[in-house]
Amino acid sequence: MSQAPGRDCKEGMSLIDMFNMFPDEDTANKWFESVAWNAGRVCGHCGSDHTSTVKSGKPMPYWCTSCRSYFSVKTGTPLQKSKVPMQKWGIAIYLCLTSLKSVSSMKLHRDIKVSQPTAWFMLHRLREAWMEDDDYAFGAPLKLTKPVLTASDPICPTASMKS
Ligand SMILES: [Zn+2]
Repeated sequence: MSQAPGRDCKEGMSLIDMFNMFPDEDTANKWFESVAWNAGRVCGHCGSDHTSTVKSGKPMPYWCTSCRSYFSVKTGTPLQKSKVPMQKWGIAIYLCLTSLKSVSSMKLHRDIKVSQPTAWFMLHRLREAWMEDDDYAFGAPLKLTKPVLTASDPICPTASMKS
């Protein structure tokens, strides 16, 4: 029996690649940082690049000498208030990219162990990002995640769906 073209035919990362990419929260954070700050680290509060690393990483990993505030890669983005670990965001992106049909919030809820409303919210944000860019390839994470990491877009589960 031949398998119909489907998920297996879709090019992209394997599950193993994904595990290697997001083995832990630290690595996932680094990945998001490399995507969000590909042109150099900037403060999420004021946009300044006069920043330094906080040795202890607390309360946040970076310090802005311009506005004298702590920040992380999530500061000033829709993910700022999200308590979902970056590792789970990364895996959610992977699942969406490798599914020909859209991933249901119930599936995401089971797969990455977040609540169903949280899963719904995450998918909503990711779909919004994709509306702005047709490039779904994981090899182009910048195009994918930049809209997700766009500032001034408050987390709002009631925002209307664009579809
Ligand atoms: Zn600043």
